[in-house]
Amino acid sequence: MNKWHTDERITGWLQILQIAVVEITGEKSAPILMPNAPLKSSTLTELHTRLERMMGASACRGVEIRIGQAAFHIFLSRMAEDFGFFLPEIKFLPVKRKIMAGLQLLAEEYLRLTGERMSVLETEDAYEVTIPPAVKEIPSIYTGCPLLIGFLKEYVIWAGGGKFYQILEKSCCVDGNRTCVFHIRKVPLD
Ligand SMILES: [Zn+2]
Repeated sequence: MNKWHTDERITGWLQILQIAVVEITGEKSAPILMPNAPLKSSTLTELHTRLERMMGASACRGVEIRIGQAAFHIFLSRMAEDFGFFLPEIKFLPVKRKIMAGLQLLAEEYLRLTGERMSVLETEDAYEVTIPPAVKEIPSIYTGCPLLIGFLKEYVIWAGGGKFYQILEKSCCVDGNRTCVFHIRKVPLD
């Protein structure tokens, strides 16, 4: 995949994030939180820093999860078709296989965007998503995990036929770990 194509994709993701920020924080706050600037490795960190300043640390995480949730739905309408999410061979899979298949497609995208390999495994009771930080030089600062939790939350509701699944981040780069590990419980919540 050539550079131009990758830049296009990054721009596409940036637009999704910007729309999600507007949806969740409103037309007035969004331009302050995420000014129209080219995507840099520090974009997520800057968004986080501004959000924390605006809303306080305790509200910030919840707002970020909601931005991630909104982003999934924007992704679904803008990008998911290109991903193959609606191909019959994905769409009509049994729920558990469909969840895994979509996660694999997202892992391929992560590789295209960052050059880093995100792994998706199945354990007895969970889907396990392991993500190396996209930005090697700053693994100890914010890497967008609550945004991803929100995104995955809505993804599994969509792929899992409308049911809710518990998602936990078992370990995080921010705490000095080499990777961020997310567990999605296989058994949906009632
Ligand atoms: Zn993390």
